[in-house]
Amino acid sequence: MLSYRHAFHAGNSADVLKHFVIERILSYLTQKDKPCFYMDTHAGAGIYSLNAAVANKTAEYKVGIERILAAWNPPETMRNYIQCIARCRDKNGSDVYPGSPWFAADILRSIDRLALCELHPQDYPSLASVMAGDSRVKVYNEDGFKKSIALLPPKERRGLVVIDPSYEIKADYVGVVNHICSLYKRFATGVYALWYPVVDAARIEKMVAQFKKAGLKNTQRFQIQTYSPDKGGMYASGMIVINAPWILQTEVGDAMPWLRSSLALDESAGFIVETITGENA
Ligand code: SAM
Repeated sequence: MLSYRHAFHAGNSADVLKHFVIERILSYLTQKDKPCFYMDTHAGAGIYSLNAAVANKTAEYKVGIERILAAWNPPETMRNYIQCIARCRDKNGSDVYPGSPWFAADILRSIDRLALCELHPQDYPSLASVMAGDSRVKVYNEDGFKKSIALLPPKERRGLVVIDPSYEIKADYVGVVNHICSLYKRFATGVYALWYPVVDAARIEKMVAQFKKAGLKNTQRFQIQTYSPDKGGMYASGMIVINAPWILQTEVGDAMPWLRSSLALDESAGFIVETITGENA
């Protein structure tokens, strides 16, 4: 089942939080003079046009990235995220918004490697064309869950694995935690970043409880809510980061009040910054 198309949602509030967190992790990992590996199990199309009819069907970007770029005084820690978008627009046109692989390719260095998986018959060729000519990148038209098992651990022994499924199947909520546990057994020093939508809070609390019991170290949760759950739909979204860099909670946490006020759609807007497990889990 591949009915989800990210082009409908590109640049929404969920993308803002997700890509900001990815940018912070990669900027941290690339401070060290050692190669690093990046894997995106569900990579998407790479770049999205916000002028496209699909993007304007729901126009989610208008209450996402458009608000961020128009808002006053972004936190210093968001500067590189915003500059990545500007670099992408310089190269690809003023109407585009980059996907997670584009942010990663922009931040990573010539010594680093990227592995990107995308199954959709239209999004895969788009991703392959966006990444064409970049010798650091391998794009796979394969199942990201299976491929991540095959590719880990990477020879670099350090890096980030982004898991960003579309949750079309309800079993995905439990499945992703089990999957991360399998990856962690293969590559215990890797950083893992899982995106999740909040439509049903109970489902997410179950997922968080599963993480608490999983025995993975240093697991952080970042969640942003833009409107009241009473209105239905995806009213919040978040990232769970395993083996989070020590500075991540401070950097993302400090930006959260600004993100909340910039992205709020009603007075119930809020955020969660939580340590799920510490260093000694
Ligand atoms: N990570 C992207 C970003 O932030 O720009 C967005 C990815 S989107 C939420 C999820 C993508 O996963 C969709 O493009 C979908 O076609 C793809 N997909 C779904 N199941 C997959 C699987 N098993 N393996 C690889 N890709 C998959």
